[in-house]
Amino acid sequence: MTPRSAPPAGGREHEEFHRSLRPRDFGEFVGQRAVLDQLEISVRAACARGDALDHLLLHGPPGLGKTSLAAAVAVELGVAMHTSAGPLIPRTGDMVALLNALGPRDVLFVDEIHRLAPAVAEVLYPAMEDRRLDIMVGEKLGAHTLRIDLPPFTLIGATTRADLLAGPLRDRFPLVHPLEFYAARDLARVLERAARVLDVPLEPEAGREIAVRSRGTPRVANNLLRRVRDWAQVKGSGRVDRASALALLEVAQVDREGLDRFDRKILLSVVENFAGGPVGVASLAATLGMDTRTLEEVHEPFLIYRGFLRRTARGRVLTERGARHLGRPGAAPPPALLSPRR
Ligand code: ADP
Repeated sequence: MTPRSAPPAGGREHEEFHRSLRPRDFGEFVGQRAVLDQLEISVRAACARGDALDHLLLHGPPGLGKTSLAAAVAVELGVAMHTSAGPLIPRTGDMVALLNALGPRDVLFVDEIHRLAPAVAEVLYPAMEDRRLDIMVGEKLGAHTLRIDLPPFTLIGATTRADLLAGPLRDRFPLVHPLEFYAARDLARVLERAARVLDVPLEPEAGREIAVRSRGTPRVANNLLRRVRDWAQVKGSGRVDRASALALLEVAQVDREGLDRFDRKILLSVVENFAGGPVGVASLAATLGMDTRTLEEVHEPFLIYRGFLRRTARGRVLTERGARHLGRPGAAPPPALLSPRR
């Protein structure tokens, strides 16, 4: 059995697997009802007008379905989706080329949009607002701006860190939707669908067990399904039943709340190295030998969502619930020490 090493966001090697499991349209997209209801109206109105959908910003932790939802929006609009990501667009010329390739009403999906260089983001401003590209040509006295008109298009930006997005860029998205962690019953439906697509004989009890331990995240649920399937095939009876699920989850060190060993290491470090907090995220990451971004974007949102950790003006603090989960009741600092939420 391979040791658990990758953070729950999963690695590039799983991209093909996840692509095959992507919901194709709104009908196949599980959960996120509030967002879907609003998007359905926006899409229908745009189609009725024969116009592009307004620019849309999707934000939330990794694996919640931002890319899948963007693709489903393009399908519902009946247009092509062009895909890129902040770090893959290093120069203004790369952004100009992307925008220039768009057909009428097409979707341009930019993942990790908070990682766009400021100069590259600036190319987007007139494009988003006035459907126009301003390109500087020539040098010195001969320099002038060349204006290129663009067809109507929709920029869909996705980010795990809306707080890092430059104000002027954020302000140019008329539609902004946060994606929330999924309820276990929705994840059970995600797993049912994935099992059908992959032709895995998943028993409902096993599906429920995996669903409650998937950190509210479809990507994690699908990763665990794949591992339970392999476990059942190699070590079990071949049936993806509750016993195989429990055995795999034990080996994978995923506990009853869905925390993996990295999550528990984070909570333990707050207790053992920082007396329960408050501790700044950079100090915590350095102590754990963990990348600050992984800590903030992958692990922390779920620990905060489930009430194990709290974010305060002075840093991260273990909660009483977190202390109890670690089997250390009383390890959380008394509330009097804590300042209000940031
Ligand atoms: P993000 O872009 O937020 O990191 P993705 O869209 O890549 O997340 O989702 C990861 C995987 O989880 C997808 O490939 C898909 O298999 C599954 N998934 C995500 N959201 C849903 C959903 N609402 N319904 C069904 N499957 C989903």
